[in-house]
Amino acid sequence: MAGPVSCVGPACLDGTAPRRPLPGARLCPPCRTALEGALRRLPALHHDCASRLGGSPSPPWREIPGGPRPDMPFNTAAADCRSAIVGVLSSWSALVADERGVAPPRRAAPHLGTFLRRHLDWLARHPGAGDFAAEVAALERAAHRVTSPDPTRRLPVGPCVEPRCTGSLTALVTRDRHRPAEIRCDADPAHTWTGHEWLALGDRPTEAPRWLSPADIECLWDIPRGSVYRLASEQRWRRHRRAGRAYYAAADVQRTLVHRH
Ligand SMILES: [Zn+2]
Ligand SMILES: [Zn+2]
Repeated sequence: MAGPVSCVGPACLDGTAPRRPLPGARLCPPCRTALEGALRRLPALHHDCASRLGGSPSPPWREIPGGPRPDMPFNTAAADCRSAIVGVLSSWSALVADERGVAPPRRAAPHLGTFLRRHLDWLARHPGAGDFAAEVAALERAAHRVTSPDPTRRLPVGPCVEPRCTGSLTALVTRDRHRPAEIRCDADPAHTWTGHEWLALGDRPTEAPRWLSPADIECLWDIPRGSVYRLASEQRWRRHRRAGRAYYAAADVQRTLVHRH
C-alpha cells in the first residue's frame, strides 16, 4: 500500500511547502525527529507541571493564618496538562499494544514515552501518524505554557566586558515590553547590566569594539527590524560583515539610541 505523497506531520500540514515522507512512512525526517524529541521531553514536562500545581509564583494563602482557604489558587491548567499527557500517551500506547500484540507499558509518563519512541517507526507508518504527531505537539505546547508562562529568549552577545573576566554574556529578553533586556555574565553574577547600560559601556578603553547584529539591536532596544536598517543608513553606523551577515558598531548604535529609553 502506497503512503501519502506529502508528509502529514503538523509542521508540514501547516506549512506552505510540505516535505516528502520517508519511504513507506507518513512523516518526513524533520517531522519524525520533532515527534521523537517531543516524546523524549514530555515526561520531564509532566514532572515540571507538578511543581506548578499549587499556583504560582507565591500563593497568597501562605500569609493567611489557619491555612488554605477553600477558594485557593489551584493551577487547573497544570493539572489538566498532566492528565492530558498521560491520557494521550496511554491511548496511543494501547493502540500499539493492541495492534502489535505486545504488552502495554505502565501508565506513567516516562514509561509511556519510552514505549512510544521504541515503536516510532511503526507509528510513523500508521494511518494515525498525523494525528499522533499533532496531539503530541499540542501536549508539548500546552506544557510549555504551564511551565514557562513568561518565556525568556537567550541571546549570546559575546565575551564579558569586565577587565580580566573570561565569562560570556547572554542577553535575556522577555516578552514583556516593559521589562528591559538584561545582560548577564556566566562567570560572575555581579556582572549584570540592562541592555542600554551595557551599550553605554562602549567607550571603555580596555575593550575591543563590539558589533551588534540587527537582531541584537531589535531585542535590546525593542525597535522594529526595519527601523534598525533605516537608522543604520541614516546615521551611518559603522558596518562590518562576518559570514555574510551585517553587524553594526555598538558605539554608533548607542550614540543614536541613547535617548530612546
Ligand atoms: Zn513533515
Ligand atoms: Zn564577567
